[in-house]
Parts: sequence; C-alpha cells; structure tokens
Amino acid sequence: MAQIPRPARAADRSHAVVIGAGLAGLTAARALADAYDRVTVLDRDTLPADPAPRRGVPQSRQLHVLLARGAQALEELFPGFLEELLAAGATRADTQGEAHWYLDGHLLRPAPSGVISYGASRPRVEHHVRARVEALPGVVVRERVEVLGPVTTPERDRVTGVRVRPRADGAGEAGGAGETGRAGETAGAGEETIPADLVVDASGRGSRAPAWLEELGYPRPRQTRVRADVVYVTRHFRREPHHLGGRSGVALVPFPGLPRGGAIVSEREDRFAVVLFGLLGEEPPADEAGMLAYAETLPGPDVAEVLRTAEPLNEPVRMRYPASARHHYEKLGRHLGGFLVTGDALCSFNPTYGQGMTAAAQQAIVLRTLLARDRDRGRSRGAGGLPRRFFRAAARVVDTPWLLAAGGDLRFPEAEGRRGPADGLLDRYLTRYRAAASVDPVLGRTFLAVAHMLQPPARLMSPGHVLRVLRASGRAGGPVRTES
Ligand SMILES: Cc1cc2nc3c(=O)[nH]c(=O)nc-3n(C[C@H](O)[C@H](O)[C@H](O)COP(=O)(O)OP(=O)(O)OC[C@H]3O[C@@H](n4cnc5c(N)ncnc54)[C@H](O)[C@@H]3O)c2cc1C
Repeated sequence: MAQIPRPARAADRSHAVVIGAGLAGLTAARALADAYDRVTVLDRDTLPADPAPRRGVPQSRQLHVLLARGAQALEELFPGFLEELLAAGATRADTQGEAHWYLDGHLLRPAPSGVISYGASRPRVEHHVRARVEALPGVVVRERVEVLGPVTTPERDRVTGVRVRPRADGAGEAGGAGETGRAGETAGAGEETIPADLVVDASGRGSRAPAWLEELGYPRPRQTRVRADVVYVTRHFRREPHHLGGRSGVALVPFPGLPRGGAIVSEREDRFAVVLFGLLGEEPPADEAGMLAYAETLPGPDVAEVLRTAEPLNEPVRMRYPASARHHYEKLGRHLGGFLVTGDALCSFNPTYGQGMTAAAQQAIVLRTLLARDRDRGRSRGAGGLPRRFFRAAARVVDTPWLLAAGGDLRFPEAEGRRGPADGLLDRYLTRYRAAASVDPVLGRTFLAVAHMLQPPARLMSPGHVLRVLRASGRAGGPVRTES
C-alpha cells in the first residue's frame, strides 16, 4: 500500500485518480468504479488498519453523527452498509423518539418520528467505507502518497495525471510555484507522475485546487464564507443503561443570546461521545471542572449529568473551526477538462449541523448518476463537459445544507456574512416554530426531517405547518435557561 504506483500504460485511457481517502474521496471512488477500469485513491496519511483517528483528518477525534439522509446515501452506494456498521457496534436511533433536542432552549416534544440517525465515530464510518471501496474490482487505495498538483496537456485544457511524492509520516502540505502544464511544486526527489484521464480532488478543507487552477491560468472560484468561530471539545465516556434515562443522545442547539451548545451521541452501546462547543468567541474549557461548569450553563441538564456521573475514557480534545466555506466552481465560465472537486474541498459546513459526510455521499451519488447517464447515451467517459455538469449538479446538492448551516449561523448578529432582505421575517417565524415544536410533535418531526435532509426546508413553511405554529404558539412556554 505504501508504494507509489508505476505509471499506467500510455494506451490506458480509463484511469481515474482521487486525491484523498476521506469520506468524500472514498465515496467518489465508489461512483467512479462503475465507469473507469481503474480507480486509484491517494492519501498522504498512513491509513490505520483498525478504526483510529489520523493526522490528515483532525476532526476524526471529534463527535460525529451520521444524519438520516447520509445513512440512506451510504446504503445506496454500498448496499448492506448500515447493517455492517451496526454489527460492528454502531447505534441507530429515532432522532425525535430516542434523543432530547433543545431548540432555543425549548425541549422538543419527544415522539417517534422515523427520522433515523446513526451513532459511530468518524474513524469507524471511514473504516467500513474504505473496506467496501478496497473490495471493488479495479480500485486501489494508496497511503503515504502526497499529491503535489495536476499535470495537464501542453495546452492546459485537460488533466493528464497528477504529480506525487512519497511521504514518510503523513505530515506537511503541498505548495510552491508551477511550471508549464503543472501546478504545485517544482520537481523534487522521489516525485512521479501518475497518468489519469480524470482527477477528483477530495483533499478536504485545505484543498489547493483553487491555487492549482490559478497557476494553470484558470479563474479562481469565488468563495462564500460565513464566519462562525466554532470551538469543539470532545471527550468519550462509558455509557451505562441508566444514563440519559436510556436515551441514546442529546443535542443542545445554540441560539442568539446563548452561542454555546453541546451534544451526546452513543458511538456504541457502551460508549458516549460528548461534545461542548461555543461559537463567535465562546470557548468551552478542556479541563474536567471547566467542562462541567460550562455544561451547567446549557438550557438542559443532560450533558452536565453525564459529565458528572459517567466514567471518562480519554482526555478531552479541542478543535477550532473558523468558517463555513463554499467554493463556487459551478459559476466558473471555463473548466479544466477532467478535473472535479468534491466534499469539504467543494463546500465545508459549520460542524455543529453534522452535514459533511451526508453532503459528500450525496455528491458521489450525483457523480455516479452523471457517469451512468453518459454510458447510457454512449458518450465516452468524462466527455461533454463533465466538470461543468458535475459542479452544477453538486451545487444543487450543497444548496440545502448550506442554507441550513449558513442561514442558521446568520441568526447570530455577531456572525459575518451576507443577509437577505427576507431573513428577519423568516427568522421570526422559525423562532416561533421552534417554541411551538415543544408542544406539537408534528412540528418537531418536520424540523428534524429537514435538519436530516430528508425533506426540503420549504416544508417548514407549508400552510399546514404555519397553522400548527399559530395554534401551538400560545401553549409553548418561554426558553428554558440556566444561569450562565
Ligand atoms: C469538528 C468537526 C465535526 C464534524 N462533525 C460532523 C458530523 O457530526 N457529521 C458529519 O456528517 N460531518 C461532520 N463533520 C464533517 C466531516 O468530517 C467531513 O465533512 C467529511 O468527513 C468529509 O470530509 P472530506 O472527505 O471531504 O475531507 P477530509 O475528511 O478532510 O479528508 C481529506 C483527505 O485528503 C487527504 N489529503 C489532503 N491533501 C492531500 C494531498 N495533497 N495528497 C494526498 N492526500 C491528501 C487527507 O489526508 C485526508 O485523508 C465534522 C467536521 C468537523 C471539523
């Protein structure tokens, strides 16, 4: 696995290369495997044989939840995947029936909803996805190989491969100036070119694709950023049956006036991941007493109760996430042929909404659909402006989670980002909606179905829901707050 592959034969026109073996890269490889004879996934990290956090994915130590739509998407890409995950110890839960949700301080009325989410660590999800991808004919995952940039035709109109170098330890970044037909660093020791007729960049939030394109003479995609300044502190605890009254998790969602929150997910029957987070200048402490004091300021008792009574299994780990960032490749007038970008490299979301793995898997489904359509129409792989078609379709996939995450963040007056003229009205309605969901379980179910990307956000504004909000508003109490 550690060696750099020999260059493919010049006649081989059916090789796709994926940069990054995270969730986006692996799911993209799944999509490509149906259309390309060979798919090579390259990662600069040492990829652990067992589920374990790794250096190139710093968020792998932080709490993760797999949203209902993401679970469906992974099952669609890898039939039987969810059963496999459960057999390995992951948990599944009815999000409204088996977890407590606090929205604007109101406890959302618990009731069975059919919105099913999965609790598993990020390394656990990646481990099982990677095993499925490695089992596909023609797919190879290579570790400790760093991609330095794309290689193109002399005209720089399409990719012909990637330049790589071996890495000893998975550390460091690619960088430097380009030369004709190359983006990234100038040639160095141990470098090689891996020929490919399609390259998919799934290298995460630190993607250098915008710089690579610029070095090749292409416009840089416009970027939309919404600054949230999220600080996460995750710690794991032994889960016992009496904890949380047997419920599987809790989410305490921050709101204007209290930009701090927390969550608990059962990663296994006997293990909780507990996160505390703050936005826009709020920072949870990472020591035991400080974490408890912070949890006690949240509007529900659940997280504090677990911190007080459960046995810690490791040390708390802190991580900072500055801003949601969306790169508008779909708006570019000119694309480098055979070069796609997916996952966090295309759009990364404030992690408190839990959307990244779902959006990555949905983008892989989009790619698979486009390639299947090409095949059905007898079009050759990647022909007919695949980048343009992919970026447009991927943008449509990203629109909803972006609306939910960036729109949610813009509720906070301190959050930097562009606001629309109707945002104030919508915000006032949704504030009433959240309060009303504490008495009307139908409103809670729809809210969670939207948050889990099973239903479009417009559903929250349907006439039936507006009526329910009006009816329930009178019965809903004020926000439940503890003293900070
Ligand atoms: C704190 C935090 C919490 C989160 N919680 C959730 C959650 O609850 N639910 C959810 O769905 N999502 C969550 N996410 C998001 C989620 O982790 C990602 O969106 C998802 O894993 C997809 O990431 P990716 O594959 O695009 O990128 P990454 O996971 O960052 O993977 C990129 C890969 O590319 C490799 N790489 C980078 N550069 C190179 C190079 N030049 N050459 C070779 N390899 C390279 C890296 O080693 C890495 O393996 C969270 C994110 C954060 C930051």
